[in-house]
Amino acid sequence: MARKKVTVLGATGSIGCSTVDLLNHHSDSFQVVALTGGSNVQDLVQKSLLLKPQLAVIKDSRLYKDLKEGLSGENIQVAAGDAAIVEAAEMPTDTIVSSILGTAGLLPTLAAIKQGTTVALANKESLVAAGSLMTAAVKEYGATLLPVDSEHSAIFQCFENHNRKSVETIILTASGGMFLNKQLHELSEITPEQATKHPNWNMGAKITVDSATLVNKGLELIEAHYLFDIPEPQIDVVIHPQSIIHSMVTYHDGSVLAQLGTPDMRTPIAYSLAWPNRITTPVKRLSLAEIGSLTFFPVDLERFPALRLARQALLEGRELVFNAANEIAVEAFLKSQITFLNIVDVIEEMLERTQFTRPTTLEDVLEQDRLVRRETKECLAKRGESS
Ligand code: NDP
Ligand code: MG
Repeated sequence: MARKKVTVLGATGSIGCSTVDLLNHHSDSFQVVALTGGSNVQDLVQKSLLLKPQLAVIKDSRLYKDLKEGLSGENIQVAAGDAAIVEAAEMPTDTIVSSILGTAGLLPTLAAIKQGTTVALANKESLVAAGSLMTAAVKEYGATLLPVDSEHSAIFQCFENHNRKSVETIILTASGGMFLNKQLHELSEITPEQATKHPNWNMGAKITVDSATLVNKGLELIEAHYLFDIPEPQIDVVIHPQSIIHSMVTYHDGSVLAQLGTPDMRTPIAYSLAWPNRITTPVKRLSLAEIGSLTFFPVDLERFPALRLARQALLEGRELVFNAANEIAVEAFLKSQITFLNIVDVIEEMLERTQFTRPTTLEDVLEQDRLVRRETKECLAKRGESS
């Protein structure tokens, strides 16, 4: 059987590493077309030597020479810059894994969709910022959007398309992040170092902070709305600290379908790579007897208002504002410029201050995104002056 052609955008990140690991394990089944990285050129070189793609692209053009030297003598083309990443996404493949961090992934993901292929989407921020545009493009170009996010992969696996009228709700599970049991006054003291360690999952810094603020669950609620075309009131969230049940779908006969597994992103990534089939993974097998009990709680919106803001943003068509303000606020928090609690305060302030409604063209998306980022930075600078 012919090997499936795969491109990985964001190959040097946390999702990228897990994807490369799977592709390496299954080199008989997959052939790699392109790998892209942001600035970690040594890692991109290593992964390219391992998987032998046709093309390797680094975003940071200053590192072009290092990439070229690192891959000299290999039959691998090299390129650099944002436009080259989009070109990599345009190369014909069977599956493109979209795992660039943040809205920077939007243009490459849209380019992937436009080739009408299968896009395995980890880059939730793009779907949040440009949901209606992206889902319209999926229809127009006949692409297939498969979720990589563990919750959405779970829903996808439990979602019976032929019974979609019988779906009552989808229930996203949330680990609650690092600070689930901390009181409000304790949350203000949290440092970037503490916030970038997740109890269950090993992920990139930004998404780990997003998990701790519960902004991640807000992004995921919006992501679920666009992926499954489910209205906001039918999407519930429950805290499940063990991260064993990855999400659930309830049907109007009272059935609840759930997908379970040890928290390891290689399972949902493997599903998106092999879909509609399954491939083996080296993931630790689930032993419920070992775990003993699974627990569930409602979300405390007093301590974690991010979920309320995400629902509000979705209802008002201002998801882009929620996402862009968060990206800037998290960057500032990671540089110790603002406190942990300030992150969600800033999102709330930006939702109050900006009047944008859901963008209808790509130009609108890019312009709104630019303006919200600029205003968020101004808002942070003012906070800095007054503190
Ligand atoms: P990482 O920060 O670990 O990796 C991000 C990747 O994107 C790296 O390859 C990075 O390159 C690249 N990158 C960053 N900025 C740019 C840019 N401006 N242009 C091009 N490439 C860029 O993030 P994660 O892997 O954790 O997350 C990636 C995406 O997947 C996010 O959207 C996240 O929300 C989502 N996701 C992640 C999960 C996880 O378990 N990590 C789970 C579910 C979803 P470099 O490192 O070389 O600079
Ligand atoms: Mg998730």
